[in-house]
Amino acid sequence: MGDSNVFVSTVELFERYKPTPLVRMSHLSAPKREVYAKLEFFNPFSRSIKDRPVFHMFMEAKKRGVLDGGKELFEATSGNTGISLAALCSIMGIKFRVYIPKPTPQITEILLKIFGAEIIRTEWGTLDMDAVKQVKEEAEKYGAVNLNQFENDDNFNSHYLFTAREIDEQLKSVRKKPDVIVAGCGTSGHIAALSKYFKKKYPEVKIIGVVPAQGEKIPGIKGLETQPKWFFQVEVDDVIEVTQIGAIEGAIEIARNEGLFIGLSAGAVVQAYKKVFHRLGNGTYVLIFPDDGFKYIEAFKKYFSSSRRV
Ligand code: PMP
Repeated sequence: MGDSNVFVSTVELFERYKPTPLVRMSHLSAPKREVYAKLEFFNPFSRSIKDRPVFHMFMEAKKRGVLDGGKELFEATSGNTGISLAALCSIMGIKFRVYIPKPTPQITEILLKIFGAEIIRTEWGTLDMDAVKQVKEEAEKYGAVNLNQFENDDNFNSHYLFTAREIDEQLKSVRKKPDVIVAGCGTSGHIAALSKYFKKKYPEVKIIGVVPAQGEKIPGIKGLETQPKWFFQVEVDDVIEVTQIGAIEGAIEIARNEGLFIGLSAGAVVQAYKKVFHRLGNGTYVLIFPDDGFKYIEAFKKYFSSSRRV
C-alpha cells in the first residue's frame, strides 16, 4: 500500500491495497484461542475474494495473448466472479457476456448490468458441469474467450501465490502460525490453495472445509458432489455442513458482536468454527470471510419475516 493511500488507477488499487485485513474476532477468541478473520470484502471490484482469481486469470490470459484482437469474454457465473469480471472488462474495454442460472438473485443481475455486462439468463437451476461445458462450447463457437474459473489453474494459483502468502506473513507479524483454517468451498480454489501452502509449511495445521447441508443453498459454496477440481488434490481434515439459516445467524452474530456485515458463506464459516473448536482445542484459528452481506439482503429480509425473529 502506498504510504499516503493514493493510487494512480483502480488496477493499482487492487494490486497494491494489500494485504486485505486480518482481524481478531474478540468475541470468538479466548485466552489461549485466537480467532482471526481474513476480510476479503476489502477487494475493490466485487468486494469479494473473487477479485483475486479473476484478476490473475485475466492477466495470465492477456500475457499469453489469448485476449488479443478485441476478443469477447464469456463466463458462467452466478455471483462474485461475474461482478468482478464485469468490472475488470469495463476497465480494460473488453466486452463481457455472462450466463447466469435461473435462480440468480435480482440484486446480482442489477450489479452485472451496472458494470455493463451482457446478461444471458439461462434455464439452468444451478451452475453444474453441464452448464460450464455449454458456455465453453458457446465461446468456441463465437471465437470468444472463456476463462472458466472451475477448471483454470490460475484460480488456484492466485490464492497459492497471494491469499495464502498474505495470511502467512500477517500471522508472522504477530508471531503466530495457523493451527486451524476454516474456509468455504465453491470452485475449491481458495481452500485447496490454502491447504497446499500451509500443510507444506506447517504440517500440523488443520484445514476445515465448509459446504451447504444437503438441499440447502448458500451463495458461493457448493456440496462436494459437484466435484470441485482442486479439492480432491489436497488434504482437507474435515468438512462441515451448514444450513442457510445457520449461515444467516453466523452473519448476524458477527454484526452484533464485531460490527461487521459479512456475507452468507462467511456466516457459514463462523458456524463451522463454532462446531469444531471444542474438538480442535486452543491455538490460532483463521476464518476466511469471502464477502460482505449487502448482496444477500433479501435472504436476511426473509429470515426476519419468516418467524418473529429479532
Ligand atoms: N463464498 C463466496 C461468497 C464466493 O463468491 C465464493 C466463490 N464461488 C466462495 C465462497 C468459494 O470460493 P472458491 O470458489 O475459491 O471455492
